[in-house]
Amino acid sequence: MSKYDIAIIGGGILGTSISYWLSSLYDVNLCVIEKESNVAMHASSRNTAVVHSPFYLNPKTKKVLAKSALISYDMWESLAKKANVPWVKTGVLEIAINENQHKSLEEYMDWGAENGIPSQDLDLLDAKQVSLMEPNVKCHSAIYSKREVSTDYGAFTNEIKKESNILGTNFIFGKNVKEIKKNQNDSTIIFDDDANVTADFVINCAGGNSLDIAQMFGLATEYSDIHFRGEYWVADPQYSDLVKTTIYSVAEFKGYPFLDPHWIKKADGKTEVGPNAVPVPSPETYEGYIGDIGTSISKFKDVLSGNAKKLLFDSEFLSLISKEWLSSISKTAMINRIQKFIPKIKPEFFSKKGTSGIRSPVITPQGKFLSDVLELENEHSFNIINYNSPGATGAPAYSAFIVQKLQEKGYLDYKQKSIKSIWSFDSVLNQA
Ligand SMILES: Cc1cc2nc3c(=O)[nH]c(=O)nc-3n(C[C@H](O)[C@H](O)[C@H](O)COP(=O)(O)OP(=O)(O)OC[C@H]3O[C@@H](n4cnc5c(N)ncnc54)[C@H](O)[C@@H]3O)c2cc1C
Repeated sequence: MSKYDIAIIGGGILGTSISYWLSSLYDVNLCVIEKESNVAMHASSRNTAVVHSPFYLNPKTKKVLAKSALISYDMWESLAKKANVPWVKTGVLEIAINENQHKSLEEYMDWGAENGIPSQDLDLLDAKQVSLMEPNVKCHSAIYSKREVSTDYGAFTNEIKKESNILGTNFIFGKNVKEIKKNQNDSTIIFDDDANVTADFVINCAGGNSLDIAQMFGLATEYSDIHFRGEYWVADPQYSDLVKTTIYSVAEFKGYPFLDPHWIKKADGKTEVGPNAVPVPSPETYEGYIGDIGTSISKFKDVLSGNAKKLLFDSEFLSLISKEWLSSISKTAMINRIQKFIPKIKPEFFSKKGTSGIRSPVITPQGKFLSDVLELENEHSFNIINYNSPGATGAPAYSAFIVQKLQEKGYLDYKQKSIKSIWSFDSVLNQA
């Protein structure tokens, strides 16, 4: 049995970034426990790969995520240069298709300024200006945001792991946490092969399983989660440049932004559309499960547990399921949604699927989707739950804020060191 000062559960972009900060700031006996054979095998490499500019995040309700995304941008750019990670500036057109959605764009322009995005990086365009820029896009108006980048977050996470490892973090791969035993002064983390490690303090960054891990600590028992597979389709090469900019659209249903697929320019020159939102039973059901719409609806009820069942009593949600959501599972329905702003595209332009990824939004005790990150702690653990998009973008700064929080709460009583290898902790905090 090994004994650690701190154990981080989850080697995604978040857990790996936190391990970097801790090992660069402290002489601490630290491990990252990951059930796969490497870091970033799940959401952190199975995503849209956009470095987001946070103009669409409400500065009041999503202040930390917005700030994290803004500060992290330069950190990613410098790491991309140092480690040769793809960094392709694509920009984004955020499209409104009617006057009502245009009002959201006006609000986003204000939010962008409040979130600190330089004014020269955001333009509000009318339909004519958009069609001059992108003749195959039809809309009422759009925000042209110039900062967005297409990258590879899996490659980034591997770079951070390399640095963290050099600084002293022990990465333990192939160990799936199945149980946590709380002792008087520490916790024993038990794996499904019955091996275990003990740690004075545990940081839970287990992505789609983070709610389950928090519940092992007796926390968040009143919450549930639900898993949606987001599927992508790759445009055949001859259609790839139909539109040269990445296109997002103002969410038609604000509480359910996962219903609106995008046109995504990738760092490798390909173009994809997606993601849709297929309800699946686990955060790793990447293939299969869903068939026709009828079986999808009956299976959807099976994937709901605990509070998530309350969703079935929400009339807006139910009407969405029947009219919009489950029908968006098919490629044709997804392309139909995109045809609203790129009328020329057709389902037959997309013959290959891209890499799917799974989002696991948390459901509140009231049966609603939780919109923000949930941070919960007790004397032996700190748990980060519902860390969703733009979580990859904001990971470098957000993870530094978590470490600052742990410092302030007195959890990090270790001998200090100050090594700046890829990023500077003080520089992140000075920008906050
Ligand atoms: C479809 C999709 C598109 C997205 N697009 C973007 C985007 O374009 N830009 C952006 O900024 N963000 C995007 N995101 C969000 C972003 O990918 C996530 O916020 C981020 O990757 C979350 O990182 P994480 O480390 O918390 O989780 P993960 O990457 O899921 O890492 C959690 C890790 O914990 C491990 N683990 C889980 N349970 C256990 C256990 N019991 N024992 C041991 N290990 C365990 C898992 O194996 C996994 O490696 C997207 C997400 C999805 C799903």
